Amino acid sequence: MKCQRCNELSRVLETRDGVFRRRECPNGHRFYTHEVWVKDIPKRNYEALQAEVVRLVKENVKPKRIAAILGVATSTAYRRIRKGVAE
Ligand SMILES: [Zn+2]
Repeated sequence: MKCQRCNELSRVLETRDGVFRRRECPNGHRFYTHEVWVKDIPKRNYEALQAEVVRLVKENVKPKRIAAILGVATSTAYRRIRKGVAE
């Protein structure tokens, strides 16, 4: 997590109860964070995702656009495109 005072990445000094963390940034600012569960991430159906990627590539859709359409990282789209091309 970034320090809110100087925006540098902090390191964890201590964790309590699995969710409370004492942190310190490279500039010596110390603070506490509390990790909270936001939501479950549903498991992707990779076969369906792969089929969608192949379909979009055939329509000459650009990789970044494919990533945006499917809601995946650009690196994931590139990996799926490479896999699709190889098959
Ligand atoms: Zn700081």
